Amino acid sequence: MQTIRQGSKGAQVVRWQYFLSGIGYPGITADGDFGPKTHRATVDFQSKNGLSADGIVGEKTYLAAYNKGYNQVEARDWPAKPNFNPLTGNSQRARIFGNFKYRAANDGTDAILVTDDWAKKNIVYVEIPQLKGFQWVPASGKIQFHRLAQKQLVNLFNDWEKAGLMDRVLTYAGSYVPRFVRGRPGVLSNHAFGSAFDINPEWNGLGRVPALVGEKGCVRELVALANKNGFYWGGHFSRLDGMHFEVAKIL
Ligand SMILES: [Zn+2]
Repeated sequence: MQTIRQGSKGAQVVRWQYFLSGIGYPGITADGDFGPKTHRATVDFQSKNGLSADGIVGEKTYLAAYNKGYNQVEARDWPAKPNFNPLTGNSQRARIFGNFKYRAANDGTDAILVTDDWAKKNIVYVEIPQLKGFQWVPASGKIQFHRLAQKQLVNLFNDWEKAGLMDRVLTYAGSYVPRFVRGRPGVLSNHAFGSAFDINPEWNGLGRVPALVGEKGCVRELVALANKNGFYWGGHFSRLDGMHFEVAKIL
């Protein structure tokens, strides 16, 4: 999210002004020009929400605003939710993708070691030509994914390419990773099933408002085609995870 303050101009300021005006600050015109009235309202909003009242709208202020309905303002930037639900919890994932035995790697990281032959039987290398040349992607363009979902993964990237949307994918940050959720030993990451991948994490961090349409790193325009291919977007999770795309159903 773009940080804005007095003197800032543009679409992000318009959104911010709509929000302030919508929660009752009088005299705010959504003209895209961050002037003294917008500054005073911002400072007031920050002090009422336990934030440092500096008038600078950055990550913490956006998050507080988000919890108070800022997403309504963003609605036009916000892709519709699909008509299917995400898999919640690893028992739902295991029902589709299978159970595996594992133990903590105990190597000072969150890594786990899968101790049966589940990974050998289920995790395959899938060539995604559109990802060739990306950091963390081998020269072959092959990334690891669950075999049951490999076709829809290929179709998704083909669909993005046909729609002229591959220029929205700026960075790739991994798919199959056998590990626990960061900081929560014992809780399997949803990447441990090989059914999810992350893109553009720099602009779509966990617990942050995902980049808006028109901002660098925005993935929102990619969501409709992801849904069509059975993927659920982490930006639609209650804990925002805008970088994350995860198979919710096998097609
Ligand atoms: Zn992820």
